Amino acid sequence: MKPSRLFFFFAFMAFSLSLSAQKKGDVNLDKEVDISDVVAVINSIAGSTTYKTTADVNGDNTIDISDVVAIINIIANGSPDEAVVAGLCPDVHHPHIIDMGEAGKWSCCNVGASAPWEYGGYYAWGETEEKTTYNWGSYIHCDGSSSTCHNLGSDIAGTQYDVAHVKWGGKWRMPSFDQIKLLLNCTKEWTNVNGINGRKFTAPNGGSIFLPAAGNRWADGTYDVGRYGNYWSSTQYPDFSYSAYYHGFGSGGGSLNGYYRSYGHSVRPVTE
Ligand SMILES: [Zn+2]
Repeated sequence: MKPSRLFFFFAFMAFSLSLSAQKKGDVNLDKEVDISDVVAVINSIAGSTTYKTTADVNGDNTIDISDVVAIINIIANGSPDEAVVAGLCPDVHHPHIIDMGEAGKWSCCNVGASAPWEYGGYYAWGETEEKTTYNWGSYIHCDGSSSTCHNLGSDIAGTQYDVAHVKWGGKWRMPSFDQIKLLLNCTKEWTNVNGINGRKFTAPNGGSIFLPAAGNRWADGTYDVGRYGNYWSSTQYPDFSYSAYYHGFGSGGGSLNGYYRSYGHSVRPVTE
């Protein structure tokens, strides 16, 4: 091989190794987490030094039977993601039902998301599909202006206007004003998961959920991503037919207030 080709060969090997080393539980660095890794851990316990850097699967600085258990858990449940590492979820099979005690049972992720830190979809209040343009002209529950909003009832939870109910089925639904109010009684923290900013709620029973700061959609744009979160409730704002209650937050705190129904906001479902 020419020296230059040799360089690329080693660069490629180093790159491949760094990729495979990132997969937790891939003890023998073959890019799969499977029974061969269990064997590699057992060989390490028996004295083999071949995989001494990766056989400490649970990171407790010893290679023993607990690493065999850890790797079997990974095979059964998948490699842990940032939500598992952060203590939000038991495994990578989202969405989970998170028991928040007095605040009820919440999903670990948004409608349209497949992990707690993903933004998911943006929905105008009472609509069940995303769209390219969010304004009064495109809002299907009015006749072209904020003064012509249709009355969808005081609470749309569980109805054909509830995107959580329509998309997820079962007993999933949008949270009501009262349910969000109970959530706001939990310990609140502006933090990040997997590099995404958001607000974490921790209940006295230890349950916690993370709401990513997904911003909002208006006209053809998406605004305040990473700076603010805006989450719809199922509850119509009583004094204004063109508004509904939503939970808005940023690094400085949050509130439960009314906002224009035609904006695209996030939805975090609850269940019974
Ligand atoms: Zn989860």
